[in-house]
Amino acid sequence: MTPFKDWLEDTSEKIAKYKKSFTKAESRKYRLDFLERVAKRLNEFSSMCGECNQYKGEITTLLNNLEGLIKLSPMATKDYRNKISAIVSHLRKKHKLIPAGTYTAIGNGAGVALGISLGAAMDNIGAGIGIGAGIGVAIGAALEAKAKKDGKTI
Ligand SMILES: [Zn+2]
Repeated sequence: MTPFKDWLEDTSEKIAKYKKSFTKAESRKYRLDFLERVAKRLNEFSSMCGECNQYKGEITTLLNNLEGLIKLSPMATKDYRNKISAIVSHLRKKHKLIPAGTYTAIGNGAGVALGISLGAAMDNIGAGIGIGAGIGVAIGAALEAKAKKDGKTI
């Protein structure tokens, strides 16, 4: 393994290669853009976190097997996505990072829920949901922007 080519560079090259050969739907299915951002984070933490260092090896294995994986069973795809989830869960718990879009999604969901109660109180569900969703989107966007500014998103 030595001399070790820069891991992140090597990983980005592999991902870029897959992106070229995959269709857009396949790239999305295998979460290639997201995986690249996850790889960047692991690389940042790996000098001080043994688990991140270990996950780097897992990402390399995932990428090396990806070409074959696409022809394999849905089980293999599920396994691939589960591995990514496990890495993200580590980044969340240990390093307090969240996948980009998390707050936006929470804001939207909470806004609709709020809108339904508002709508019930106003006796106009449609208007309530409109107002609630507007508030939810605004709060979600604000939290999302702050997390991004603090460097807390993947
Ligand atoms: Zn870590």
